[in-house]
Amino acid sequence: MSNNGPKILESVIEVCPYCGKHSLRVTETLHNVPNFGPLLIIVLKCSNCGYKHTSISHVEQHNPVRIKFRVEGIYDLNAKVIRSPTATVRIPELGIVIEPGPSSQGEITTIEGYLLRILDIVESLFEKPKRENIVKNIKRALSGEIPFTFILEDPFGNSALMVEERSSLIKESLDIEDLKRLKYGDAILEMRRRRDV
Ligand SMILES: [Zn+2]
Repeated sequence: MSNNGPKILESVIEVCPYCGKHSLRVTETLHNVPNFGPLLIIVLKCSNCGYKHTSISHVEQHNPVRIKFRVEGIYDLNAKVIRSPTATVRIPELGIVIEPGPSSQGEITTIEGYLLRILDIVESLFEKPKRENIVKNIKRALSGEIPFTFILEDPFGNSALMVEERSSLIKESLDIEDLKRLKYGDAILEMRRRRDV
């Protein structure tokens, strides 16, 4: 077997965004292209309505990293977020963990923009009584009332935070336990194993 063959990371059945049936096969494969680097290919295919979508992203491989930034006030909400399709976002004080989804594209936004989008998602997904607390907390965070920590964890190391004071960023490398826990972390561990062969 070739060491460079595609590796299936995940193949699961999810709810189809078009017909609403539990019949959407999501297959994620990692292809190692010589002289180019890894490609993450995500194929969505619904066996009920025929919906199909393929997304291909080039995941350049840098060191797995965790970047932390403490948001102390409104000004810090302007920090730029460069989130690659393989990064997980965590805001522990707000109970927020956002893993990359099957149709996740990379994005460039600000922390404020990111929070506003989470607010939209929470408001569209949850009934009023259930979302009340989280909505209140996100709004307080947006008005600078609660300090919080914005954390980006990226097994491929392609994400960044851009802040005025670079010294206010904490960068940590991810260890094997972190990678096992993180979405796409197992892909990095697999690539390391292949290199060791
Ligand atoms: Zn469907």
